[in-house]
Amino acid sequence: TTNYDLIIIGGGPIGLACAIEAQQKKLNYLIIEKGALVNSIFNYPLYMTFFSTAERLEIGGIPFNCLAPKPGRQEALEYYRNIHRYFDFNIHLFEKVLEVKKQKVAHFEVITDKNTYISKNIIIATGFYDIPIMMDVPGENLEKVRHYYKEAHEYAFRKVLIVGANNSSVDAALECWRKGAEVTMVIRKDEINKRVKYWVKPDVENRIAEGSIKAYFNSNIEAITNEKVLIKTPDGNVEIENDFVLALTGYQPNLNFLKQIGISLSDDHLKIPTYNPETMETNVAGVFLAGVVCGGMETHKWFIENSRMHAKLIIDCIEQKN
Ligand code: FAD
Repeated sequence: TTNYDLIIIGGGPIGLACAIEAQQKKLNYLIIEKGALVNSIFNYPLYMTFFSTAERLEIGGIPFNCLAPKPGRQEALEYYRNIHRYFDFNIHLFEKVLEVKKQKVAHFEVITDKNTYISKNIIIATGFYDIPIMMDVPGENLEKVRHYYKEAHEYAFRKVLIVGANNSSVDAALECWRKGAEVTMVIRKDEINKRVKYWVKPDVENRIAEGSIKAYFNSNIEAITNEKVLIKTPDGNVEIENDFVLALTGYQPNLNFLKQIGISLSDDHLKIPTYNPETMETNVAGVFLAGVVCGGMETHKWFIENSRMHAKLIIDCIEQKN
């Protein structure tokens, strides 16, 4: 079997950025991605617009052409496919890493659903979009409750309840309302989140103010049944008729996967993995973190623009060890 210098787990933008650096330094690397190329972006809402400008999503110094002020999902997929065409990565798509075992110094065994590999170093660039944060309410397991939103059509002319007031919830609420859904939002705090895209925030606030979208602030879902949803509001419990619930309550990295490898997490609710910010190396020597996974539960701290530089920090460190 090949003895790799480096195995990169995750073929998102930052995993690819790491591969570009590794390739340029002539390291023998392999990317293992459980889904399609840039699988998280592939699973975004179909008509989603990035909050970042195109230039801030660039990797490897390759320009990202975009006519509009901000690119959308389709253009980003096009861009990252072109990145792969250009760099011709050594990547295995649709192969999932199940386990990483440290056998001795600079010798890891990477076990996937198809094979086992040996590598001196590991980069974990697995993102946070695979595990939704659950509400833990009765009825959450019903088929009509979704934690991912794709597009509005199936919600048109139906009663849709949207949980949350962040970008995902607000985009879905506006899109569904514009396609003819009857939209109700349940919002834990007393306002739309300040992080909502600056050109979208006034739109949703005005729709709520005029009553087009009904919003319950300072409220939480208590229970979901096939026909109804029970909402706890400051004015008491309210029961409304309902066809679908979009619980866009955020996502979290696979922290168990990190723990199984031996990476320690902070004691507080943020569960930030331990790493040296100068090299991105974790407390397990030879295992590095790259991209949004390194924020733990703090999933808004890192994005493409401020984590693409992890690639260079890591590859410089690996080179110095060699
Ligand atoms: P990801 O892109 O999540 O890549 C991780 C990859 O690892 C995935 O492809 C996944 O399939 C793979 N993987 C996971 N586990 C395994 C395993 N066990 N084995 C093999 N492969 C595995 N960021 C921005 O910078 N700008 C934006 O405008 C922006 N908009 C966003 C909009 C939405 C709706 C969402 C959800 C996120 C947005 N983000 C945005 C955050 C964005 O997702 C990240 O910045 C970016 O995708 C992070 O890249 P990454 O490579 O760290 O992780």
